[in-house]
Amino acid sequence: MAKRVYLFHEGSKDDRDLLGGKGANLCEMTGLGLPVPFGFVITTSTCREYFQAGNKLPSLLEQEYRVALDLVEKKMGARFGDPDNPLLFSVRSGAPVSMPGMMNTILNLGLNDEIVEGLARRTNNPRFAYDSYRRFIQMFADVVLDVDGHKFEHELQRYKVAHNKSLDVDMSADDWREIIAIYKTLAKMPEDPFEQLKLAVEAVFRSWHTPRAIVYREMNNIDDSLGTAVTVQAMVFGNFGDESGSGVAFTRNPATGERQCFGEYLFNAAGEDVVAGIRTPLPVSALAERMPAVYEQLHTTQSLLEKHYRDMQDIEFTVQDGAFYVLQTRSGKRTGRAAIKIAVDMVREDLITEREALMRVSPEHVEAFLHPMVDPAAKRDIVATGLPASPGGATGRIVFSAEEAEEECAAGHTVILVRRETTPEDIHGMRVAAGVLTELGGMTSHAAVVARGMGVCAITGCSTLGIDYAAGTATTVDGVTLRRGDVITLDGTSGEVMLGDIAKIEASDSDDFQVLLGWADKYRRLRVRANADTPEDAVKARELGAEGIGLCRTEHMFFAAERIDIMRAMILAETIEERQVFLDQLLVFQHDDILKLFKIMDGLPVTIRLLDPPLHEFLPQHSEDIAALSAKIGKSVKQIRDIAERLAEVNPMLGFRGCRLSVVYPEITQMQVKAIMGAAAEAIEAGYRPYPEIMIPLVVNVREIRLITDIIDKCIQEMARAKHVSIPYKIGTMMETPRAALGADRLAPEVEFMSFGTNDLTQMTYGFSRDDAGRFIPKYLKEKLIDMDPFVSLDQRAVGRLMQIAINESRSKKKGIKYGICGEHGGDPRSIKFCHDLGLDYVSCSPYRVPIARIAAAQANVGGEQPD
Ligand code: ADP
Ligand code: MG
Ligand code: MG
Repeated sequence: MAKRVYLFHEGSKDDRDLLGGKGANLCEMTGLGLPVPFGFVITTSTCREYFQAGNKLPSLLEQEYRVALDLVEKKMGARFGDPDNPLLFSVRSGAPVSMPGMMNTILNLGLNDEIVEGLARRTNNPRFAYDSYRRFIQMFADVVLDVDGHKFEHELQRYKVAHNKSLDVDMSADDWREIIAIYKTLAKMPEDPFEQLKLAVEAVFRSWHTPRAIVYREMNNIDDSLGTAVTVQAMVFGNFGDESGSGVAFTRNPATGERQCFGEYLFNAAGEDVVAGIRTPLPVSALAERMPAVYEQLHTTQSLLEKHYRDMQDIEFTVQDGAFYVLQTRSGKRTGRAAIKIAVDMVREDLITEREALMRVSPEHVEAFLHPMVDPAAKRDIVATGLPASPGGATGRIVFSAEEAEEECAAGHTVILVRRETTPEDIHGMRVAAGVLTELGGMTSHAAVVARGMGVCAITGCSTLGIDYAAGTATTVDGVTLRRGDVITLDGTSGEVMLGDIAKIEASDSDDFQVLLGWADKYRRLRVRANADTPEDAVKARELGAEGIGLCRTEHMFFAAERIDIMRAMILAETIEERQVFLDQLLVFQHDDILKLFKIMDGLPVTIRLLDPPLHEFLPQHSEDIAALSAKIGKSVKQIRDIAERLAEVNPMLGFRGCRLSVVYPEITQMQVKAIMGAAAEAIEAGYRPYPEIMIPLVVNVREIRLITDIIDKCIQEMARAKHVSIPYKIGTMMETPRAALGADRLAPEVEFMSFGTNDLTQMTYGFSRDDAGRFIPKYLKEKLIDMDPFVSLDQRAVGRLMQIAINESRSKKKGIKYGICGEHGGDPRSIKFCHDLGLDYVSCSPYRVPIARIAAAQANVGGEQPD
């Protein structure tokens, strides 16, 4: 039988899977000789056993942990359940992947009516003893006995009001004793400490399945079957008096990444008070003045841990009567900005390699970093200021609960969630909110940590706001009343709360970010291109590091105001001659646009897709527009309507579009090819190096490709007669029908590149309409009928398999074909990893996602290497 219980000196940081992150790190710190209260860990596999047995503890478990418990007693010099010299425990959850605050923890376990008296006597500190006992009852009842925690808060509040006390520190020993008596009427507490322990262990196991933990795992793609470990640890007490307290400290600033001890401390408080954000704590520097020796010890511990783990650490510590204890360390959650700065700085400090630095910045970090900020030049109507807990700018309507946030968002509004403080129960609201604003709590409160992790802008500790949930208002000290539904803007970088919708700007690129992107380019194999249809897009794309255009949708060039009517006239033409007149006009526009793209993308490939959408998409719908068009092109309203009716389709996405247009209207394709090749010739004459790649959409067989190749050849011959330029062009095909993928070997001889259009390929593989799938995909996700929306993250099993078949079979027919992807998936990090593994040559995505794609491509490459 596998060992189920590990004492702290029996494990190490490499045992995360078995002991959970918290337990493994407590073991590691014990090994490093740090002051960690001693204890033991019950493994995650025991948790899985517990669930498999239908929520029953293995029969031998208690025997096993009692042996460990004896050793803890010896080491701590106190005894569990002994009134004369009591040892108390914390019973802590901890999964292999960090899920801060999502599961349950019980503190001060081992107290009952008799033992609390002993504790009061032995410590000579009755106030502390009763305070600890009431905390225990409250937590135990909430977590183990399922008594609503608010009942206790409510009773405590009532007592405080009746006795004119405002803070916990105002409560005397006698006050706490009275509270205990009240609490005990709310919960039937087991008196036997061993019974308490057993029930607590079970409850921590069960907390793996609390709704908030489930939501958190869903959001972060954490495997549901992992389970949690349980750490049972000797208690130390921050609520022992004024020489005691608790704090949280980061080794670098988690918002900006700056290298400084950044943390918060509460005097005479237990650690849970800091995390819960019930009092706004002091910066940790307060400790430097009042308890310099402790501060020094914190500082040394931090340096040691950061060097040891080679990453920014988030440390929980408690001071009991001047003695310093570490209770937890983990890699600190950080904003995108901080992640980038820390990664780059740590390479400079020789702590990590460039490759490691790349793996430290997640695509979400980059995304958050690129989030808009409140325009510094905009006029600000500031009504309150709090702590800048999670940067970025956000505007939305005020809501006061997570439920309201969800409802408003479902109705299509953006919201700012305003709370006194947030608890893990609010997570579903925080997830949909554009920003979070809390009255209480510090930079390390739940709201701050969770918001940073989610990349949601947040301001915490905005103590000048008086929130009244019942009235649905928040009133500032200056008497401004914010109401439910009012629009406010948060600046999570400065902590300012403003009225109205304030302008935002894009995050400026930092030097650190450029350094990191430079490393990404050095370590990636996949090339990154952009989808760009306009010169503006192309400029942006190049700025952001695109190595060419992977998809230019030519139809977008015809939507502009002065062109759409020519396009419409062309579509409505009833003879070739009539059509040609308009095509000649469109040719001029198309030529100029493409010329601009070639110039901007000088020296880089530009993939131009021939006209793709069904023609009736261009025609006007409303009668005024039809009348206006009629006046312009000399066709009657009735004529226009008739032709439009003829063009209408029942199923346009599977209809008359893509290269089918070239088959029926070769003259349109001729015009496009002339524009492309003509623009390329002109660019060359002007000294540029254009690399046109003509891409044929929606191909199902090789004959379609041949038809278009013929058109191109003729066009080139004509041009060769007129000018003497040689244009380095390529012809390729979109791979977006299952038939093209399954017949790739036959297409191969005719093409030089294949670009997977995974939006259509997904649509046709699933038979899910891209435009209508929104109606049922949420339910499919909820019911776990699918793991991911296949339009967001590439379906590797079937769509990916089609891609794999297409690549293998075309490659076996012809070497040197370039493979790319140009669907939305080209900017999705998971899909990029898959494309890397498939051996594609490039991904193409929207310009703004180019930096993310560069990093994801590097991570795909570095992540697959052996660690260095
Ligand atoms: P979480 O995973 O939610 O952070 P923890 O297990 O870290 O939960 O416990 C919450 C808080 O309880 C910690 O921040 C710490 O301050 C306090 N705590 C846990 N164990 C002990 C202990 N042995 N002695 C004193 N305080 C403790
Ligand atoms: Mg903790
Ligand atoms: Mg398509």
